Amino acid sequence: MRTNRQRSAALMERSRKIFPGGVNSPVRSFRSVGGDPVVFSHGQGKYLTDVDGQTYVDFCGSWGPLILGYSHPAVVEAVQRQASRAFTFGAPSEEEVLLAEKIQSWIPGLEMMRFVSSGTEATMSAIRVARAATGRHKFVKFEGCYHGHADCLLVKAGSGLATLGQASSAGVPEGCVQDTITGVFNSTQAIEEIFAQWGNDIAAVIVEPMAANMGLVLPANGFLQTLRRLCTAHGSVLIFDEVMTGFRVARGGAAEAFGVQPDLWTFGKILGGGLPAAAYGGRRSVMEHVAPLGRAYQAGTLSGNPLAMAAGLATLEEMDRQKAFDVLENLGKILDSAVQSRLAQAMRDGKVAYVRKSSFFCFFFGTKTLPQNFAEVAACDMNLFNKIYHGWLDAGIYMGPSGYEVGFLSTQHTADDLQRLVSVIAENL
Ligand code: PMP
Repeated sequence: MRTNRQRSAALMERSRKIFPGGVNSPVRSFRSVGGDPVVFSHGQGKYLTDVDGQTYVDFCGSWGPLILGYSHPAVVEAVQRQASRAFTFGAPSEEEVLLAEKIQSWIPGLEMMRFVSSGTEATMSAIRVARAATGRHKFVKFEGCYHGHADCLLVKAGSGLATLGQASSAGVPEGCVQDTITGVFNSTQAIEEIFAQWGNDIAAVIVEPMAANMGLVLPANGFLQTLRRLCTAHGSVLIFDEVMTGFRVARGGAAEAFGVQPDLWTFGKILGGGLPAAAYGGRRSVMEHVAPLGRAYQAGTLSGNPLAMAAGLATLEEMDRQKAFDVLENLGKILDSAVQSRLAQAMRDGKVAYVRKSSFFCFFFGTKTLPQNFAEVAACDMNLFNKIYHGWLDAGIYMGPSGYEVGFLSTQHTADDLQRLVSVIAENL
């Protein structure tokens, strides 16, 4: 049992005096699952060690970037080599060209791109350039899809088919969200109706092609194809937010996994190998609107940061070397079998539902069927998730602290880790 968290608790007490809620990003606060956050000291491979010296097998991976686990020697070596050359230039460097070319070799159709420092910057900039390219203002997002915290993207749907701009955060004026239209994930009918009403005013549709910020919700058959068809028919820019799925769901991301090509992509997480880096890019005809070629302004002091570029490049190269997607799919199949052998009855009883795609996995509690949209996810039993969450923690397993998050496999996990993960669920149902 990992119950000795005295140093964690003492540090959180100090943190709460300095940081809102004691954290530098809200979900870390454990508000959702209850109790005190674990404060970490270091990570190695699949293990995290807290400041009280207890270790956990980690399935959060810093929310996705750490697909090779913590401190992979190839990544550490690349960062150290770069650190001795320069942390930042604020000028062009070879590192950014090398990483961009590597990314292009994984993502066919990514003709032009721009590096930024966070997923939020990437999505915000992608919307701006889509608006610049089309000369239109409105765009569509889907309820339950998270695209970072830019004002115009902090919108959730009200009830009904679709709502126009209602901010889901204080401090976001109505004017910032009046052009944000919210659709229902996986509803082709809803998006058809949105286009019927506003079609020729829609600059862009932005979507997580596989939604991974409301648990894990796969695209229903035909949903992404419908988005593609409507965007093409109306001259709107289709943006796949692959900050989560990029470099993780398949080598070519969700576009490859689901066979639909967007006009623009946004990437982050794995792209920086755990250092702050993200990107947006896609069709040349759209990206040529970005300054200094075009009039859509976007800039960054640390954009294309050489340390982050080195970490990202080393991560992608090491993934190729290890044939990471094969390794992860094999681990995924082991997890599937563990779920089948321990949870089959509980699944039949509607206590838990399980979904996995590549190295993403998710358990929904209190439901027999897999949720297809945000409303169905929200109807799941989050109290049961919270109980199981603390069961995991006590058993030395660390997951993202919320029932709306997914679990991530890394290349470091073993069959034994996956058995334990499932056992804790079986014991706590
Ligand atoms: N888009 C998606 C799909 C994300 O999952 C996230 C973050 N989890 C973001 C955008 C925002 O990225 P960042 O936190 O780096 O700003």
